Parts: sequence; C-alpha cells; structure tokens
Amino acid sequence: MPTFESERVPGRQPARFAVVDPATGETFDEAPDQQPDELDAVVDRAHRAWHGWRADPVVRTTALRVAANAVEAAGDDLARLLTLEQGKPLAESHAEVARTAARLRYFADLAPRTRQITDGRPVHSEIRWRSLGPVAAIVPWNFPLQLAAAKFAPALVAGNTVVLKPSPFTPLATRLLGTVLATALPEDVLTVVTGREPLGARLASHPGIRHVTFTGSVPTGRAVAEAAAASLARVTLELGGNDAAVLLDDVEVERIADRLFWAAFRNCGQVCMAVKRVYAPAQLHAEVVEALAQRAKTVAVGSGLNPETRLGPVNNAPQLARVEQVTKQALADGARAAAGGHRLDGPGYFFAPTILTDVPPGSPVVTKEQFGPVLPVLPYRSLDEAVDAANGTGFGLGGSVWGTDLDRAGAVADRLECGTAWINHHAELSLAQPFAGVKNSGVGIAGGPWGLYGNLRPFVVHRPQEA
Ligand code: NAD
Repeated sequence: MPTFESERVPGRQPARFAVVDPATGETFDEAPDQQPDELDAVVDRAHRAWHGWRADPVVRTTALRVAANAVEAAGDDLARLLTLEQGKPLAESHAEVARTAARLRYFADLAPRTRQITDGRPVHSEIRWRSLGPVAAIVPWNFPLQLAAAKFAPALVAGNTVVLKPSPFTPLATRLLGTVLATALPEDVLTVVTGREPLGARLASHPGIRHVTFTGSVPTGRAVAEAAAASLARVTLELGGNDAAVLLDDVEVERIADRLFWAAFRNCGQVCMAVKRVYAPAQLHAEVVEALAQRAKTVAVGSGLNPETRLGPVNNAPQLARVEQVTKQALADGARAAAGGHRLDGPGYFFAPTILTDVPPGSPVVTKEQFGPVLPVLPYRSLDEAVDAANGTGFGLGGSVWGTDLDRAGAVADRLECGTAWINHHAELSLAQPFAGVKNSGVGIAGGPWGLYGNLRPFVVHRPQEA
C-alpha cells in the first residue's frame, strides 16, 4: 500500500530530496519531496477513513496491539535506518523502537470515562467523549519514531485519523514505520507525508485538520499556532527546553556524575529535556567540572553503527553550526572549555563533548537552548540565586535537584517553574504521567490519560431526570 500521496498519482514522478548520514556527511538515500498541494487529497482521505475508524473502540485497541507487535518485528530494520539518518548509537535506536511499540501498547488499553454529573437538581447529565477528526502530527529529528508514536498512538485510540510529517532530516525510518503500521491499520487511518517546507506549514493550516500536535522548536511552534489559527484547530505544542540541574551542597559528586553526564549528553545532547545548564555550589564547582570533564574527554564518540560508540554525531549541518556558534560565543565571552570546545576533524557532523566553565550567565549557551553536546557549569553562592537562575529563562520544560537530603531536595524542586521536576535524576518519564511544559516550552498536555483526552472533545447529553 502506498504511504505517499505522490506515489498514488499515475504518471507523476515525485520529486525527491537527499537524506544525509550525519556520521559521514554524505547523502545515502532520498525521500519523496511531497508538495503542499498533495495534502488536500491526503486530508480528504484521512477524513473519509475517520468515519469507519471512530466507530468501534474494540477494533482500535486490537489494531494498536497488532501494530505494536509489527513494530517490534521490524525492529532491526527500523533501528538501523534510524541510526543511519539520525546518528544515534544503534543500541539507542533499538531502545527508541521499543519505546515506540510501548507507546502503542500503553495507549491501546486507554479508554475515556463516561461520567454522570449530579449537582442536586433533578436533571441527568452525562459526559461522553468524541474524536476530533484528522489530526496533523509534526515531529522533529531527535527522536523521530517515539515522538511520532507519542502523538499518533493517543490520537488513533481516541478514534481520530492521523497525517504524520517527520522532519526532512529524518524521513526514512518514519516512512518505514508508516509501511509497518499499514499492515495493522485500515487504509488511510495513518498517512506519512515527507517533504521540505512549506509542507508542514500547509499541514498546520489545512482546513480539514482538527488538531495540530507539534513537537519542535519555540519559533516553529509559534508559526504552527498562527497557521492553525486559520482553521481554529486545536493546538498542542511540545517545544524546546533549557533545563537546569541544581546541585545542593550535600550532593555526592562522584555518586551522581555518570547520571548527570548522561542526562546532558544522551542523544548527543539533542533531547528537549536534557540538562542544558548545571548550577553547582561554589565550593563544589571545581569538583563537578572535573568529574564531568573527565567523562566528556573519555566517552567514545563515533558512528552510531560502531558498537563501541556511546555518543554519535550532531544530526545535521545547520544544528552543528548552531552548536559551534554558541560555543564560540561563550569562549569569546570569557568561558573556558574544561573539555572539548570544538568540532572534531574528519568527515561527519561531530562535535567534541564540551564542558564549559567561567561562563558569563548572560551568554547564549546559558540563556538559549544549545541542543548539542555542550554543557555550561555555573557556580552559585546562595540557593535563592540558583533557583532564580534556574527559573530565569523563557523556558519551562523540566528541571532537577540533586542532593542527599531528599526532603530538602524536594522543597527546592517545588520552587522550579517547569512541567516536570526530577530529584537525583533527569529526563526519566513514565508513559502514565502528564508531560507539559510551561512558559515558552509548551501548550497543552501530552502523556498518560491527559494525552488521550487531548485528542477528544466532550459531548454532553442533558435531560430532566423524569423525562
Ligand atoms: P523545528 O521546529 O525546526 O522542526 C520541527 C518540525 O516542524 C519538523 O518536522 C519541521 O520540518 C517542521 N516545520 C518547520 N517549519 C515549519 C512550519 N513553518 N510549520 C509547520 N512545521 C514546520 O525543530 P527541530 O530542529 O526539528 O527539533 C529540535 C527542537 O525540538 C528543539 O527545540 C527541541 O527542544 C524541540 N523538542 C521538544 C520536545 C518536547 O517534547 N517538548 C521533544 C523533542 C524536541
């Protein structure tokens, strides 16, 4: 079954765009460059498929379970393609495929609850839940499969159909995922479209779309919200983060150093809720810098296909240029690289894992989202100063507090202005919990039952009790 509209049009040869392996910097394949005008037919078919798909929740639950199995069965092919186009180590790609299947399974078993409302009057009021229609899911390149599943699994189980658009940097694993899911889902219930802008902009503003669920950067999120305003579609935005890790003065540095390092550097730092700034008490600052720098200097960096590799390349050339630019700016501002600080020689988009110290607090590597393997470590003198600094950006995705006294750490975590605060680890999630950034980090709630209800609308039936 074709997953791409352009492949259905007789006589039309779809344009294609290059897909680059970030470990070599070379093109290794191509993907269809679908044009905005193709979306009318895609959305129209998604709308027609919705009528059948929304009818029976049992069919949907069964299909999502079958889909989860199919994803696992295709795990080797999906993981390899993901590593080739995204760059992450193969073991992490396998973990991402597993999380994709886990999301399908988790949401397969979720159902909205019908509720009766009583308010003392002799009336009967029942709240039921209805699907919305075709949902546009637009996702970035850092976790193409699991972020897509976090959108399409709740949307589908709720009875919606989905048009899924991956980033042009990582279209291929998603394309394969679409083919795999097509073996479990009725035709046109989930359609993958690939292409360069303005494909996403057109999808976000398409009048047939009833919910735009977007994960990506803050500026694009704003553009998506504006585009969706045209049709007044519901908008869910999961945007960037600049999470702070606040270390308390009773922290045991060596004990937490591995966890802290990987909370910042997993997926080469390209994680929305990675630790992007560390605040350490002044008396522990040098020890923290040393512990992190030692790990940054010795971690195995290389192609994700090499089983020794723990840290792959940055995903794409523009992102590498951004990482390099904020690092150079920090060094020009007076920072010192305790590890790294530069691109690595040779082919591919490799940047040396970097620990920065003596960074002025106003430097962009602190105030903006670096989204790469670069971590500033800043000293603080009072806890209030650290909390103010942690809360002092426009972001509010996550944050963490690290220390031995858990009550005290918990009290500091309470003061963080963010959606998720962790204690003694970071970026750990349960499928059953809500995920929602505050301030510029997001609008709406994903995850758990909240993610399901985000794809439904209430429908109320109200009558006199004696009618
Ligand atoms: P991006 O905003 O550049 O792109 C995200 C997606 O939007 C891509 O599919 C892109 O092709 C598409 N797009 C680009 N312009 C568009 C437009 N005008 N209208 C509609 N769609 C458009 O983000 P990125 O560089 O791919 O990803 C990195 C960003 O994603 C970081 O800021 C990161 O923090 C964020 N992110 C957030 C979460 C979260 O859950 N909060 C998770 C992962 C990544």
